[in-house]
Amino acid sequence: MHPDLEKLLELQAKDLALLGIDIRLRSVADEIGALDIALERARVDVETARRRQEEGAKKREELEKAIEAQRALQEKRRSRIEQVRTAREVQALMVEVEAARSILARQESDWVKAADVAQQQETALKEAEARLAALTTDQDGERSRLDASLGEIGAERNAAAREREATATAVERALRLRYDRLWISRTTTVVVRLQGDACGACYTAVPRNRRSQIRAGTHIESCEACGVILYPADGEG
Ligand SMILES: [Zn+2]
Repeated sequence: MHPDLEKLLELQAKDLALLGIDIRLRSVADEIGALDIALERARVDVETARRRQEEGAKKREELEKAIEAQRALQEKRRSRIEQVRTAREVQALMVEVEAARSILARQESDWVKAADVAQQQETALKEAEARLAALTTDQDGERSRLDASLGEIGAERNAAAREREATATAVERALRLRYDRLWISRTTTVVVRLQGDACGACYTAVPRNRRSQIRAGTHIESCEACGVILYPADGEG
């Protein structure tokens, strides 16, 4: 085998190791992301419950004010009944008082309903807040485990990246560039073993003279079809 190919295979092994580390990093990041989403959902639930509770409380308060105002007016009408002189005036005020009484009755019944709804909304808010608090507590352990794991894998990645760079500098520059270009475009093995007479990646036949050059270790050849760098099968190089 061409001596540079051996270095290249070593570099590829390190790149594959890095890729494995990146996949683990992404999986931990995804787990953290899932926790974030669950927490965010619980926060949105609290916000929604709070908005409803505030609206409910406001509606109940508005009804209370309207009822108070109506009661005060009713008091005034009643005292005016005592002050007016003519039966006609009394009659007119009595009609007003009667009308106001039915308005008041409706407002009071509305208030009972609104108070009931407001009570339910308050309970719903407390429940949503309790769920958020419980979820936050539940996630604590999981989050510190994931954060630690992220730190460990990150350190492992830094070490692997340094090793990879050290190996990369040992590879002849033009070959390294050729390899890097391939690696970036494929993100999978780019230095591939010959499979009989064919490329081990795409199984396109490799012409006899190029095969013998690969086996003799005189040239570093790429597959004409898919571009991977080819190396001889065991016992052939
Ligand atoms: Zn190929």
